[in-house]
Amino acid sequence: MTAISNIDERLVSQLRERGMRVTPQRIVIHRELCGHSQHMTAEQVLGRVSDVLPGTSLPTVYSTLELLETLGLVRRVGTGNGALVFDSRVEPHAHTVCRRCGAMADLEGTAAPEDALTRAGATGFVPDHAELVVWGLCPACAD
Ligand SMILES: [Zn+2]
Ligand SMILES: [Zn+2]
Repeated sequence: MTAISNIDERLVSQLRERGMRVTPQRIVIHRELCGHSQHMTAEQVLGRVSDVLPGTSLPTVYSTLELLETLGLVRRVGTGNGALVFDSRVEPHAHTVCRRCGAMADLEGTAAPEDALTRAGATGFVPDHAELVVWGLCPACAD
């Protein structure tokens, strides 16, 4: 887990480079995803930041997450059940998703997303993103 000051610094320098404003919403939402919980839906982000940022709306959270995505600081992960999760780990990696509680975790040691991108590129297709999601029950729910 990276120190808060480093997390903030990365965002602030990205925003300044593009001549964009540094707002409390941007700082707090980015900090929440990068410092506390890596995988979150916009609704979960809103639940976590509403104490610190009273009056923040879901559309504001969405547009902030989209901005962070544009800056390359978070990426969106489609879970296949309509839920859109934002992930602060931006390099390609696979996930497990629990059908019962919805918990999402990184799956290490599989080269599948990168391999799929490479193979798609070899066909002349110009890929930009690949997703591997393994569905099932997390250890807690499987008990
Ligand atoms: Zn579960
Ligand atoms: Zn992840």
